[in-house]
Amino acid sequence: MKITAKFGGSSVASASQIEKIGQIVKNDENIRAIVVSAPGKRFKADIKVTDLLISLFEEYKSQSPTYIKTLDMIVLRYTEISEILGLDRKLVESFKEILLGFLTSIEDDFYLENAIKSSGEDFNARLIAAYMNKIGFKASYVSPKDLGIVLEYSLNDVNILDETYKNIEKFKDRDELLVVPGFYGYNMDGNRLTFSRGGADISGAILARGLGCDIYENYTDMTYIYSANPSLFENPAPIKNISYAEMRELSYNGFEIFQEDAVEPLLDTDIEIHVKNTNNPNEGGTIISKERTDVDKNPIIGMSDVGEFTSFKITEYLMNRKVGYIKNVLDIFQYMHIPVEHIPTSIDSISILVRSEYLEDSSKKSSIVNAINNSFDLDELVVRDFLKSIAIVGEGLKDQMTKALYIISDVLNQNQIKIEYIIQGASNNSLFILINKKDEKLCLKSLYKAIYEDKVLDK
Ligand code: ASP
Repeated sequence: MKITAKFGGSSVASASQIEKIGQIVKNDENIRAIVVSAPGKRFKADIKVTDLLISLFEEYKSQSPTYIKTLDMIVLRYTEISEILGLDRKLVESFKEILLGFLTSIEDDFYLENAIKSSGEDFNARLIAAYMNKIGFKASYVSPKDLGIVLEYSLNDVNILDETYKNIEKFKDRDELLVVPGFYGYNMDGNRLTFSRGGADISGAILARGLGCDIYENYTDMTYIYSANPSLFENPAPIKNISYAEMRELSYNGFEIFQEDAVEPLLDTDIEIHVKNTNNPNEGGTIISKERTDVDKNPIIGMSDVGEFTSFKITEYLMNRKVGYIKNVLDIFQYMHIPVEHIPTSIDSISILVRSEYLEDSSKKSSIVNAINNSFDLDELVVRDFLKSIAIVGEGLKDQMTKALYIISDVLNQNQIKIEYIIQGASNNSLFILINKKDEKLCLKSLYKAIYEDKVLDK
């Protein structure tokens, strides 16, 4: 049995958390590699090191003198950890030099930002490797460059090149614990590239596959992944098993516990992901695997608040006869780099639904409106903000879509909640209900009650 264990920001936020990692690794000799995040929040108002690093980059670039203060805050986080763990001071002293070295030597802003942003995990892995040796492990810090994690940046996205897995395979039989910084790799030219936020989960999956592990353990500060947001519901139902596809759907649609792209490296493997709690490693745990076996008993695995949406509803008489109309509308969104989420259509109208976060810069919305008005002979264009999308996810929807739709409509009707749009995901394992923002809480609560407390779908 071979395990790669990844420890997220809360699991590496302080010296006492890192001591827990030492204990976890001590208790399981199957753990061959650990992948670590940058120190996360120790308390609610705390700032994640990755956020401090992003501020450092921005302040330096805008020539704000505050960058020195931010730099010191970052180094202080590691100094505190290192002192409590009793590590050699020289290690942390080098961190400041490394950051200043990046700031003054990397000319390209994009690569500079990536180098700075990824340093949170890099420093932490160096520090944790030193700690593991101190407590008696034979452990080595191994950088993504040594491992050969090769990435490519294209169309605003970072892709993993296939050779990565072959490169990592060479470390398979190493007789020591590998301590690897998550969140980044290198492009062909040797520049660091980071994944999107939360991307240390992706690094963990890459390692688990490359090293041929049986299990990818993913440590967080929660004992389970829950069926609904635990900050909104008291004791939501824990998820014991979930499929890769369901997890990906929920992660993309609002569950923050597991990065949505982290499943992808494992899709063609039999590696199970076990989500566990660093603070309580022997209890609970959610297993993410290819297929879920309790779909009959548990048709809907989770529901999430996806966030706020804006709709652009275009009406033009005889739209149905104009072949390529949708493509021409979508070209405008592509040109503006706005991802489109849903496209409900009817004979003379089409609605384009996008996440409102992409329109925060208000000039974007007016540019889209102008471009649509100038490109088509419209009858009407209506833009609506303040829509909320609720995702309902579960493999059981494939067989029970009719019943699910009936129940959802009934619940919302009883609570006088108007459905603005209802969209069945093409994969048949998800359903999206778009409602007015003011109805959001009532909608979530009433659906949760019906699905998980009254279990109306199971009857
Ligand atoms: N430290 C990075 C972030 O805060 C990556 C991670 O923790 O997964 O997004």
